[in-house]
Amino acid sequence: MFKKVRLQLTLINIAVVGVILLIFLSGIYILMQQNTERQSEQLLHAIASDLRRPQRSKNQGSPVMKSNSSFYIRYDADGNVIDESEVMPIIQSELESLIEAAMKNNHELDIIKLGTVSYRYYRNFSPDLRSVTIVFENIQQERETLIRLSTILIIIGLGGLIIVFISSLFLAGRALIPIKKSWEKQQSFVADASHELRSPLAVMQTSLELVLGNKEETVESQSKWLENIQAENKRMTKLVNDLLFLARADSNQQTIERAVFPMNKVIQEVVDTFGPLATKKSIQLGVEIKDEVEYFGDENRLKQLAVILLDNAIKYTPVGGRTKVTLRQIDNHIELNVMDTGEGITNEHLDKIFDRFYRVDKARSRDSGGTGLGLSIANWIVKEHKGTISVSSVPGKGSTFKVLLPKVLQKD
Ligand code: ADP
Repeated sequence: MFKKVRLQLTLINIAVVGVILLIFLSGIYILMQQNTERQSEQLLHAIASDLRRPQRSKNQGSPVMKSNSSFYIRYDADGNVIDESEVMPIIQSELESLIEAAMKNNHELDIIKLGTVSYRYYRNFSPDLRSVTIVFENIQQERETLIRLSTILIIIGLGGLIIVFISSLFLAGRALIPIKKSWEKQQSFVADASHELRSPLAVMQTSLELVLGNKEETVESQSKWLENIQAENKRMTKLVNDLLFLARADSNQQTIERAVFPMNKVIQEVVDTFGPLATKKSIQLGVEIKDEVEYFGDENRLKQLAVILLDNAIKYTPVGGRTKVTLRQIDNHIELNVMDTGEGITNEHLDKIFDRFYRVDKARSRDSGGTGLGLSIANWIVKEHKGTISVSSVPGKGSTFKVLLPKVLQKD
């Protein structure tokens, strides 16, 4: 698909440049042609007006002397030659044909073709109509020069088009790289999303079939399957919400709404909501928030960030472990740390866990309601606040997720 787009872009480019080159080069040709024609016509007029001067000198400064391709002849009313060029660069029979054609032609200035050679002539009657002067110029040289010029211009045009083709192909290829990458990313996102949605749907379908296959059984006796359906439904709802969030983020529809809010209170609230879950797992949940921390950012999104990190910390920490949340202000930054004494993450996975759908242990994450999208969302929220998120971990000992948010000035 991208090969076709690349070729299409190149061809569009070639067509545009081709039209511009055509206009430009034909402009040059037409200008040159008009210029040489004008010069030749001016020469013929100059010779004719020189011949009209009564005391002209045949040798001194006459335009006809300067040009070795022009010649003239003058007749009286009876058809006798009164004057003619000293040198006639043409044989008599051809001269006669030229004169005959020039006299018959309605135009006083025109071109006559004699065999392969072309002549421009200017026919001029004396004011008393008693004599006629015809000045000729062999324009073969002029024609050849114009043919040479057109050949050079065609070569320049074709050469230009070849260069434009190669460079357009190269540039179109380069311009398409980011589009191709984002397309591939989007494709794999859609493929992963469909894959993720398939398993809850399959579990729900099987559970439903089992329930419907035993219609005479009570709801209570089938509660195992119904609970399965409920759990999968819950999981799918979370997955769809997360997918929607990322899809909106990708299309720039997910926006950050900044306002000043007490960050310390928000983080404390999040920690409090996780209290029961931690207690259920016998996990010690510590919190260290010393100061009042005012922050100018999106309260809901930062709450969501804290939920993702704390949820993971509890999820990936075994029974009896510890988790701790700290929030402090350092210079013009706010630092949020979420630490746990859980299973930790090995180095090979560390830089990938922020990728969409990446999970160290897929089955485990799934069992605990994970979608593999939490850290991608966390990463997006932090980036939108121009901050950084990093993780340090010792496998078997625990992990610490560190978020640094720059304090931005409140806009009026
Ligand atoms: P999930 O929904 O699977 O938790 P996340 O994007 O939140 O998806 O996390 C991605 C993966 O990173 C998790 O599947 C898990 O393997 C790993 N992970 C995240 N947080 C922790 C943590 N605190 N301790 C150990 N592993 C973690």
